Amino acid sequence: MKKVQFTIHPALADKVKILRSFDKEGFDKICVEALTKLADKQIAMRGIEIKSEHAALCKKCGSPMVERTGKNGVFYGCSAYPKCRSTQKKPSDKE
Ligand SMILES: [Zn+2]
Repeated sequence: MKKVQFTIHPALADKVKILRSFDKEGFDKICVEALTKLADKQIAMRGIEIKSEHAALCKKCGSPMVERTGKNGVFYGCSAYPKCRSTQKKPSDKE
């Protein structure tokens, strides 16, 4: 599974805390799965910031950048596409 880190908006923190107290692992799993799906569908969600391992934010509008594959390889494109067409080079992996 992809590694996804997420931070909860302060306004949602209390609700999330309650939900999480019932089933911490299940809740986190659902969150990560949902956020991964959302990131894949390039939907930016209000209140929850999506951060991938190589977290990057759009320099133009501040939306999270999502990984895309183009004819020149993998790059980051703004998740607000097509409203915002900002792109960034993918940082090279040194693993
Ligand atoms: Zn953008």
